[in-house]
Amino acid sequence: MEIIREVNEMHNRIMMLKQKQKKIGFVPTMGFFHDGHLQLMKKAKEENDIVVASVFVNPLQFGPNEDFDRYPRNEADDISKAEHVGVDLLFIPTVNEMYPQKMKITMTINDRIDVLCGKARPGHFDGVITVVTKLFHIIQPNQVYFGMKDAQQVAVVDALIHDLNFPITLIGLPTVREEDGLAKSSRNVNLSSRERNEASWLYKALKHGHHLVVDGEYNPAIIIKEINNIISDNTEGVIDYLEVLSYPELKPVSHMKQQVIIAIAVQFERARLIDNLLLSDDGHIIRFWKQGETK
Ligand code: AMP
Repeated sequence: MEIIREVNEMHNRIMMLKQKQKKIGFVPTMGFFHDGHLQLMKKAKEENDIVVASVFVNPLQFGPNEDFDRYPRNEADDISKAEHVGVDLLFIPTVNEMYPQKMKITMTINDRIDVLCGKARPGHFDGVITVVTKLFHIIQPNQVYFGMKDAQQVAVVDALIHDLNFPITLIGLPTVREEDGLAKSSRNVNLSSRERNEASWLYKALKHGHHLVVDGEYNPAIIIKEINNIISDNTEGVIDYLEVLSYPELKPVSHMKQQVIIAIAVQFERARLIDNLLLSDDGHIIRFWKQGETK
C-alpha cells in the first residue's frame, strides 16, 4: 500500500492508473477505522482494480461547537488496517494541503438538508459536498462507497453526483453493528460505560418501529411515538431528531407504504449517535443502496 499525502502526487498516480484503464473504487473517511470503514474497503476491493481510501477530518463540515478537536484519530492504526484489507492507495492530506487558502468558491446544497442532520447541523452538508467534490476531482473514481449509517450523506452525495454530472456510481453499504446492535462509529469511544449500554436501545427502538410496520401500522406519527417512548424510557440521551421520511428525497410522508427511512439522532454527554432503518414500500429492510437502482 502506498501512503500519499500530497494532492499533486495523488493526481500523478491517478493519471498513471487511468492511462492503464484501471477501474478505481474510492472510500472517503475521517479515519479511526472500525469494521464499518473496512467493509466499504473490502467491497471496493472486490469490485475494482484499485482501491483508494482517504483519511481526512474535514474542518468545513464541523460546526463551531462541534467535536472537530476531539474527533478521535489514530493514523498508525488506520494505516495497518487499510493495508490489511488491501487498500492500494491511502490518501492522508493535511488541512493545509486540502485548503491552502480560504476557499474562493462556496458550495451550498439546497435540497434534502432541511431535515435530520442537515437541520440539526447547519452548514454540515455544505462542508461535505465541498470536500467530496475536491476528493472526486483528485481521485477520479469510477465507483464510490459510502455507509448507509449516514443515509442523509448518501442522499446528498446522490444529489451532488447527479446535479454536477460526475461520471461516478454511488454505492451505499449496510450499517455494520456491534453484537448488541449499536451501529459502529468512531464516536462510540466518547460514550461512558453507562451510555454505551444504553446506546443499544437506538437500534432496538428502530427495530420495534419496523415490527409495527410489518404488523400493518403505516402511520408515521404512531411509529415515531413508540420509538420515542422506548428511547426515553431506557436512555438518558436526548433525542435530537426522530423522523420518518421518503428516501432519498427526504420529504415528509403521511403513510409508510413507500420507500421510507426511519432516522434518529440521540445526544449523549460527549457523543451524538445516529442510526436509521431504510424500509421498502412493502416494509422490508433495505440494506444496500445503489444509485439509480433502488429509487
Ligand atoms: P466517517 O469516517 O465516519 O466519515 O465514515 C466514513 C464512511 O464510513 C462513511 O461513508 C460512513 O457512512 C461509513 N461508516 C461509518 N460507520 C459505519 C458503519 N457502522 N457501517 C457502515 N458504514 C459506516
